[in-house]
Amino acid sequence: MAAHQEKKPSEGRNRKSTQNGTQTSQVQWGRAWEVDWFSLASILFLLMFAPLIVYYFIMSCDQYQCSLIDPVIDLLTGNKHLSDIWNKTPTLTYRAVGIYTLWVAFQVVLYVCIPDFCHKFLPGYVGGVQEGAVTPAGVVNKYEINGLQAWIITHVLWFANAYYFHCFSPTIIFDNWIPLLWCANILGYAVSTFAMIKGYFFPTNAKDCKFTGNFFYDYMMGIEFNPRIGKWFDFKLFFNGRPGIVAWTLINLSYAAKQQELYGQVTNSMILVNVLQGIYVLDFFWNEAWYLKTIDICHDHFGWYLGWGDCVWLPYLYTLQGLYLVYHPVQLGTANAVGILMLGLIGYYIFRMTNHQKDLFRRTNGNCKIWGKKPGYIECSYMSVDGTKYYSKLMTSGFWGWARHFNYTGDLMGSLAYCLTCGFGHLLPYFYIVYMTILLTHRCIRDEHRCFSKYGKDWKRYTAAVPYRLLPGIF
Ligand code: NDP
Repeated sequence: MAAHQEKKPSEGRNRKSTQNGTQTSQVQWGRAWEVDWFSLASILFLLMFAPLIVYYFIMSCDQYQCSLIDPVIDLLTGNKHLSDIWNKTPTLTYRAVGIYTLWVAFQVVLYVCIPDFCHKFLPGYVGGVQEGAVTPAGVVNKYEINGLQAWIITHVLWFANAYYFHCFSPTIIFDNWIPLLWCANILGYAVSTFAMIKGYFFPTNAKDCKFTGNFFYDYMMGIEFNPRIGKWFDFKLFFNGRPGIVAWTLINLSYAAKQQELYGQVTNSMILVNVLQGIYVLDFFWNEAWYLKTIDICHDHFGWYLGWGDCVWLPYLYTLQGLYLVYHPVQLGTANAVGILMLGLIGYYIFRMTNHQKDLFRRTNGNCKIWGKKPGYIECSYMSVDGTKYYSKLMTSGFWGWARHFNYTGDLMGSLAYCLTCGFGHLLPYFYIVYMTILLTHRCIRDEHRCFSKYGKDWKRYTAAVPYRLLPGIF
C-alpha cells in the first residue's frame, strides 16, 4: 500500500474533524453511518424486487423465448394468471441440490486447501499470500490469492469431462438452470443471514463493523467489513470470485454446448460472448491481487448486496446474452462480428490500462512512468478510526487525467459489445448494459462521496484538476 502513516493520538475517536480547512467526517470514510430515506427506499426496493427481477428474466426465456413483454401481455389480457406461470416453473430438485452442493464444496476446497502454485511458474502473475488495503479501523488483512489456479483446475476438469470422461453432459448447467436458481438463492440468503448474525455475535474484527441501527440497511449493506472463518476463509474474496466469477465462464460454455446440441453448430455470436466475457473473467483472476484494492474489497461491507448478489445476481444476469443465444441463435455478418470484437477489445484495453495505471502508480508511490512521463498527482491525507494519519496520492496523468473513472468507461464499452452480439430482436440481452450503466454511474457518485469524506479539501483539488467523471467534456 502506498499510504504512509503517522500517529495523531488525540484525534482517535472523534467522529467529526476539521482537516485541510474543510469540515468532513474524516474518520468516517467507510460505509455510511446514517441512513437517508432515499438509500432506505432503494434498499427496500432491491430486497423485495431483485429476486423477482432475476426470476422474471430467467422465466421469460424458459416460457416466452426471452420476450420480456409477452408475459406482461398474457397477464394483462387474462390469457394467463400468475399461478399458470408459477406452476410451469421447474421446482427445486435433488439433482440440482446435489450439483450445487458439489460445486460450492469443490470451490471451497480449491480456495482453502490448495495454496497457489501459479505464481511459481507464470511470469508476471501475482499470487500466493498478498496484503489488502488499510481498513477504516487500520487493519491490513492477508489473503491467499489462488483464484487463477481454481479457475484453471475447474476448466481443465470441465473440458476433460466434455471430451474424455463424459461423466455428465456439458449442457448440465443449462438443463438445470431454474432448479439451480433456487439453490443459489438458498445459499445467497443463508450466507447473508449468517454474515449478519456473525457481525452481531462473533465478528472477525469488531472495530471494522458498522451498525446503522436500521435492520434492512445493515442486512443489505452488511455489518462486518471483512468477515472470515478461521484465518483464511474470506467471505468477500470467496463469494465474489468462486461461485460467482469462476461459474461465469462455465455457464457460457454450457450455453455453447446447448446450442451445439440443439442446432448442430455454435454461432459466431455465441463464440464472441464466450471469448469477450472469458477475457474479462481471466483478467479478473490474473489480477486478483489488484482486486483486493477495488471498492468491493476496500470499502463495501459484506451483506446481502455482496452475498446474495454474488450467488444469484451475478451468475444469472451477467450471463443473459449466452442464455438468449440458446433460444435465438444469431449468426452475425463478418463486418458486424469484427466491429463488435473491436469494440469489446478496445473497451477491455481501456478498462485494463486504466486499472493498471492506478495500480502501478499506487504500488510505486508515484515513482513510475505513465505514457512515458513521470505522473502528475495531488498529495492527500486521511485518518483511520484510531487517529492514525495516512498520506496518499491521487494521480492526474494517463487515463486518470482524462476522467476520474475512465476504467468504468472501458467496462461499459465491453458490456455494450456483449449485448450487441445478440442483434436487436429483443430487449432482454440489453439488460446488462442498462444495469452496468446504472451500477457504475451510481458507483462513481458513491465512491466520490466516500473519497470526499476521506480526503476533504484534497479531493476538491483533485476534482478541479480532473473535472469529468466518465466521458471527457460530457459527464
Ligand atoms: P476504482 O478501481 O476506480 O477505485 C476507486 C478508488 O481508487 C477510489 O475510491 C480511490 O481509493 C482510488 N482513486 C480514485 N481516483 C484515483 C486517482 N486519480 N489516483 C489514484 N487512486 C485513485 O473503482 P472500483 O473498485 O469500483 O472498480 C475497479 C474495476 O472493477 C473497474 O474497472 C470497474 O469497471 C470494475 N467493476 C466491475 C463490476 C462488474 O460488475 N463487472 C462492478 C464494479 C466494478 P483510495 O481510497 O485508495 O484513494
